[in-house]
Amino acid sequence: MEKKVRVRYAPSPTGPQHIGGIRTALYNYLFAKSCGGELILRIEDTDQARFVQGAEDYLIESAKWCGFEFDEGGDKGGPYGPYKQSERKSIYLTFVQELLHKGLAYYAFDKPEDLTDARMYAEKNKTNWKYDYQTRLSMKNSLSLPADQTEEELAKGTPYTVRLKVPEDTNIKVQDLVRGEVVMNTKEIDDKVIFKSDGLPTYHLANVVDDYLMKISHVIRGEEWLPSAPFHVLLYQMLGWESEMPEFAHLPLLLKPNGNGKLSKRDGDALGFPVFPLNWKDHKSGEIYKGFKEGGYLPEAFLNMLAFLGWNPGTEQEIFTMNQLISTFSLERVIKSGAKFDPEKAKWFNQQYLFKKTPQELVDLLKPQLAANPQGNKNDLSDQKLLAICNLMKERVVFVPEILTKGQYFFENPVIFDPKMVKKKWKEASKGIALDMAQIFEDQQEFTSANLETAFKLYVEANELGFGVAMITLRLSITGLGGGPSLFDTAEVIGKASCVHRLRVNSELIDGLKKGG
Ligand code: GLU
Repeated sequence: MEKKVRVRYAPSPTGPQHIGGIRTALYNYLFAKSCGGELILRIEDTDQARFVQGAEDYLIESAKWCGFEFDEGGDKGGPYGPYKQSERKSIYLTFVQELLHKGLAYYAFDKPEDLTDARMYAEKNKTNWKYDYQTRLSMKNSLSLPADQTEEELAKGTPYTVRLKVPEDTNIKVQDLVRGEVVMNTKEIDDKVIFKSDGLPTYHLANVVDDYLMKISHVIRGEEWLPSAPFHVLLYQMLGWESEMPEFAHLPLLLKPNGNGKLSKRDGDALGFPVFPLNWKDHKSGEIYKGFKEGGYLPEAFLNMLAFLGWNPGTEQEIFTMNQLISTFSLERVIKSGAKFDPEKAKWFNQQYLFKKTPQELVDLLKPQLAANPQGNKNDLSDQKLLAICNLMKERVVFVPEILTKGQYFFENPVIFDPKMVKKKWKEASKGIALDMAQIFEDQQEFTSANLETAFKLYVEANELGFGVAMITLRLSITGLGGGPSLFDTAEVIGKASCVHRLRVNSELIDGLKKGG
């Protein structure tokens, strides 16, 4: 019978997960759902010194915002818990004892300074030192000491670690679903510590034991764990679980936009784009790491962008809903080389999704922004006006909050008039044109875009004016800018009183600016 697909995302809660971590979680989710399987959240918190409060909740929230949830673990619990490694101490101990008992692992009593000395001595002789089959007998451990002395050390309570006795000169094969077969000789592998002096297992042991006990079918994780995979395979072999070993898939690293090196959490600040899904406030420094959500990204756009960071469907299609991703995703199409994070592409995705929103959806997204913006709703705009604004602005913005900034003139009388445009386009006759148009606008019975346009054309023709000159005069007076959506549609939304006022007052101001400068 085919093994049920169960995958896990297993972060160490050492801080907020940046997009690399969420991408790994997402690929696990997509794979699980494409096979009708389950996604488990396991918290690998055996390194207590690096534990950061709130990291788990942050991850769960980030996943929810992005559009997926974990089936087990986290806030869900489940039949294979506990899902936090710090709550599973006794479980690991059983397996450590089993390995010790079978002679596959050994107690090591070396003090940290003994290890440093060994390393330094090797360095002097221009060699690299490893705790392994060649050096283990010269160290202080249960292989080098007589049995009674080992017993004595243990009875005395001498601090110890447990190391795996890695076999000599054996090829370990890892079948990776992304990279194919990876082979490593045990000469390359040291006798890693599997159990620490603080009574907790190391990552390697806990990871393998939990994957086995939680019946994980596929381990899908970042490429940085590929070098550890042969050691994990060895642990499966030594624990007698080789036939139930999960399949492995190592995902490509996320690279900086220029392709030079791994994307780090500092890159966002340096280069001006978010690297985290949600804002995160560092408890110690108070520093804020910026999130995509707060940066104005739509969750669907973030999800789509994330899915493409290391995978593609092999077709031209780029816009995918979650359900489409689930039905199209496969590990075979995950790329091997690093995936460059492209902030411009992220914006492109956002624009695509924003453009597909109905005006009503945009209004719903805009309202909280308006409420948070003290300048925002001075005019107390009706829903109908907001709908019209969203409709006019949606192809001109990448982010919803930009409707407020780029379209500020919809909400208040402009105070800045694009100096370059004023210099180039404001003519001797402009003020007169604006004042004439103010009167014409005032005389309109019905202040509609169509009526304004007709009246404007009649005026321009009757006075033999250049259409462009007259138009920019109006635009600068009403919006302060040289470009934007249809001016008559814009004027209709702004309304008669405000437009007439702007034409009169602003044309005076601009004329003064022009003459003064
Ligand atoms: N705890 C590891 C991490 O923080 C998990 C690696 C794995 O998925 O095996 O990424």
